[in-house]
Amino acid sequence: MKILIVEDERKTAAYLKRGLEENGFVVDLAENGEDGGHLARTQTYELIILDVLLPGRDGWSVITDLRRQEISTPVLFLTARDAVRDRVKGLELGADDYLVKPFDFSELLARTRSILRRGPVRRTPVLALADLELDLGRHRARRGGQALDLTPKEFQLLSFLLQRSGEVLSRTLIAEQVWDINFESDSNVVEVHMRRLRSKVDDPFEKKLIHTVRGVGYVLEQRA
Ligand code: CA
Repeated sequence: MKILIVEDERKTAAYLKRGLEENGFVVDLAENGEDGGHLARTQTYELIILDVLLPGRDGWSVITDLRRQEISTPVLFLTARDAVRDRVKGLELGADDYLVKPFDFSELLARTRSILRRGPVRRTPVLALADLELDLGRHRARRGGQALDLTPKEFQLLSFLLQRSGEVLSRTLIAEQVWDINFESDSNVVEVHMRRLRSKVDDPFEKKLIHTVRGVGYVLEQRA
């Protein structure tokens, strides 16, 4: 059982490596996202333990890249931030589980064993509304069977709308959840991205799914 640890804090990395080796695993270490991504693409691992905050390429970028290349090695995220949106984001990007730092080694070992017990078959969460489908595991969007070419941000935005479909979402909420920013009233980042998203998701199709609620925000829903 071979595990890859991508972690820039040397003490943490060494401690995890030693602990896992004592429990019978073979462990490779990478200190940054670049090296971690390279090892994950070129070697075979049963599990990748991936720190979110890494110098250069962060953990989000590493997993996004792997899933795009259809490398489905299970990923356990280590996050220092106990923010709900970080957990959701990790899972949306295709992580299998996450641990919030600091954690006990026994907890990491339990999660590791639990992920490995699930075996190589990955459940791929798919969000859908009408003929719109978002495959979170493979990071693919389709409408009416046609692939939609979305940027990572547009994908994230659409995924948020789909998770909350039928609900009117304010621009403030969208900015907080998708951009992780406190919304400035003069910023039109949400509008700009929503327009681009609509040009791909709605414009080529007869039935519109994204609707503007004037003065409030947006709702994704199927209307008769
Ligand atoms: Ca780190």
